[in-house]
Amino acid sequence: MRIRDITAEARGLAPNLTPPHERVLLGEEDASGYRGIIALHSSVLGPAVGGTRLWRYPSLDDAVVDALRLSRGMTYKNALAGLPLGGGKAVILNGAPVADRTALLRAHGRFVDTLHGAFVTAEDVGTTLEDMDVIRTVTRYAAGASNGLGDPSPFTARGVFCAIRAAAQFCWGDSSLAGRTVAIQGLGGVGYHLARELVAAGARLIVTDIDRPRTDRVALGFGATQVPPDSIYDVPADILAPCALGGILNDATIPRLRVTIVAGGANNQPAGDAHGDALHARGILFVPDYAANAGGVTSGAYDLLGWDEGEVTAAVDAIGATVGNILNRARAEGTPPYRAANRIVEERLARAVS
Ligand code: NAD
Repeated sequence: MRIRDITAEARGLAPNLTPPHERVLLGEEDASGYRGIIALHSSVLGPAVGGTRLWRYPSLDDAVVDALRLSRGMTYKNALAGLPLGGGKAVILNGAPVADRTALLRAHGRFVDTLHGAFVTAEDVGTTLEDMDVIRTVTRYAAGASNGLGDPSPFTARGVFCAIRAAAQFCWGDSSLAGRTVAIQGLGGVGYHLARELVAAGARLIVTDIDRPRTDRVALGFGATQVPPDSIYDVPADILAPCALGGILNDATIPRLRVTIVAGGANNQPAGDAHGDALHARGILFVPDYAANAGGVTSGAYDLLGWDEGEVTAAVDAIGATVGNILNRARAEGTPPYRAANRIVEERLARAVS
């Protein structure tokens, strides 16, 4: 394994990402054809924790920028969730189809192991719990393996549900969702479990997914109304819960929205900061995604920090209180909630270093 420190070049690719990354490494191995990046953004609050993404990137620079953006996001998510963990992320550049997946994952595990616990990884887009078991054969620094609490999606969905209740309390003075209409985009792991929680709370659902059987399952199972994927931005509803992809709150979609609250599980829902501001200007309450969707990483505390299941559940439910604090602070300061959330994190990091 050849490991090269590419921190200086990486920082140059994304100079606006502050605070700057502590360390960015490129690992390459000829035998397996492995090529991967580990980006350590911050260890101020604890060891850097973040998933491993397996993706085919157009170029090395694209992969580096993705790792930088995602690892910084993990610092903010972990800090806001009150976890004693920093932020990091890994990407493996060999996208599917992979000739020998086990060899690739073991190479990645050896790369992770060279950091002796400064970085702990878990599953992410393109990797699975089973992949973490393979990585665990060569390093102890992989969470979310099958000796953890398993699929994080139900925990993420539970946290999003608590975030939605907190936003309802803030907007309408009542956290009850009985009779409220929620539009859900994406019915995979998170969207499906969120639908289940919402229906149990008495909400009406409008749902969509590009995968028709997934929509049918929720429509039939929970009595939800289905709409085609692109129509989800136009439906009149109380709440929109994006649980598919990032970047869906943009110049084209924001003017179409007919909802009071946007709160969902997808990462990086606004295409950019300007879109967080645009939602605020339209009077739509946007709950920062990294506050709402921290339930999955919180479930990793079982494995990483030795919490029991009760402690994990309590911490996931506390996402509601965190969102309430963010929204109250945003109102007091007259800023969009994402700015208030960022400030809460930056203050926490500053306190930890002083
Ligand atoms: P998933 O892959 O299981 O589900 C995503 C679903 O979205 C799929 O059913 C897919 O068909 C659908 N989809 C994709 N494009 C769509 C479109 N244009 N319109 C409608 N549906 C579309 O993923 P997941 O684990 O449920 O995660 C969903 C989102 O939440 C992702 O952005 C993920 O990064 C984020 N997230 C997930 C977790 C977790 O614990 N799984 C934790 C934090 C954040």
